[in-house]
Amino acid sequence: MTHMTPQEFRHLGRQAVDWIADYWETLDSLPVAPQIAPGRIRGRLPDHPPTEGQPFEALLGDLSDVIVPGLLHWQHPRFLGYFPANASGPAVLAELLSAGLGVQGMSWVTSPACTELEQHTLDWLVELLGLPDHFRSTGPGGGVIQDTASSALLVALVAALHRAGKGSVRREGVGGTQYALYISPETHSAATKAAIVAGLGEQAVRHVATRPGTQELDVAELRALITRDLDAGITPLMAVATVGTTSTGAVDPVADIGRICREHGLWLHVDAAYAGVAAVCPELRWLNDGVAQYADSYCTNPHKWLLTNFDCDTFWVADRSWLTGALTLLPEYLRNAPSESGEVTDYRNWQIPLGRRFRALKLWAVIRWYGAEGLRAHIRQGIALADRLAGWIGADERFELRAPHPLSLVCFRLRTPPDADRNEANLRLLKAVNATGSTFLTHSTIGDDVVLRMAAGGVLTEERHLREAWQCILQETEAMQGAQADARPRLP
Ligand SMILES: *Cc1c(COP(=O)(O)O)cnc(C)c1O
Repeated sequence: MTHMTPQEFRHLGRQAVDWIADYWETLDSLPVAPQIAPGRIRGRLPDHPPTEGQPFEALLGDLSDVIVPGLLHWQHPRFLGYFPANASGPAVLAELLSAGLGVQGMSWVTSPACTELEQHTLDWLVELLGLPDHFRSTGPGGGVIQDTASSALLVALVAALHRAGKGSVRREGVGGTQYALYISPETHSAATKAAIVAGLGEQAVRHVATRPGTQELDVAELRALITRDLDAGITPLMAVATVGTTSTGAVDPVADIGRICREHGLWLHVDAAYAGVAAVCPELRWLNDGVAQYADSYCTNPHKWLLTNFDCDTFWVADRSWLTGALTLLPEYLRNAPSESGEVTDYRNWQIPLGRRFRALKLWAVIRWYGAEGLRAHIRQGIALADRLAGWIGADERFELRAPHPLSLVCFRLRTPPDADRNEANLRLLKAVNATGSTFLTHSTIGDDVVLRMAAGGVLTEERHLREAWQCILQETEAMQGAQADARPRLP
């Protein structure tokens, strides 16, 4: 057995960093999505692991030859599906440093700097996003980095159960009490998954209708469902308000939902996974409306739109005692004087797993590299690009914009053919566009309508890339509809 010596690491590490820089530089020329059949990548890997060690260069070679052709390139400038990856140089370098340090940050004592940098960075983010002061580590609440918004939802739900059961749930489980969780059809599926994992089951999930003609939760409907549950002896537990839904970027009326939650003792979780970070721009602070007054917990994902590579979800609670009350355990092998003094934060009690990575390092690197103004410029660029795109779509009578686009996401659809075939035509267009490898979009539904989603906000995406993507959509539309390719203006 031979470890990689520090000397070899220096040498090979430079090669690996060069490999990444080359990848970023040449992404533009790669097809965005792989066109390969299932099993093709595995078919190119050896059946058995090597008996003797192999040089690292061989791995880098296979990375280029075998793995890259099987990747969907989330950082590609013409990747417009889901929400594009938001890796950046400083984040990736800090991620490497975090791996190099090999730190476990489960308790303060297991690496004081890991915990304190995380507290400090999240306090910075409270300031940058204009979030309420009680989210700061110095107040009754506090912030923590979770891997994902899904984990944030799960721990919020567990904290809500702890509060609703007055502490009994962690001893006895939910027992005979039936709880209800209120979401809208536009809420991320992570909420339902949290209910399943927490043992409440899908039966606990209430789908509050959206207001007619919008994708926003209908507050009157929420009130009606809560009343119905109370009449049936069911305990209303928690409501999820989304700021920037995954499908269309819609924003629920957080304050109105919050007032009802307050009235009936429900926990309010605000899921701003995608859009929350946009509040770094003062002109977008309306995204936080109602959060300071009503949110018991709130999360946003710097990995979705704030230049930080996956994974990084920032999660805050207004009162940390419910969260830590629900999740704190102190087995003998973790006992230590600082923990028992109560003077330090042990983040293992704020999350599901015990172990935790040093994620604050990459967020710290991003905030320091870009500064508040750099972060704002990135958000504003994503919004300006989406606006440009919406302009082109709106000017073409073959398409319709299907939802408002206040941020970086545009939802649209082909208008023709009429009615019954329209959804099918839109799905066919999506498939044709993605098969070109020139761009990559995803779809969703609004009511019964299939819509195509284009999300700007990628780090490398510029106007010319959107223009190329739009051109590709027009070409495929024309091919599909058999129109004369040159009968219409092609470029906006
Ligand atoms: C993407 C998204 C999620 C899930 O994000 P993960 O961090 O991958 O769990 C949850 N809610 C919303 C609104 C999202 O856009």
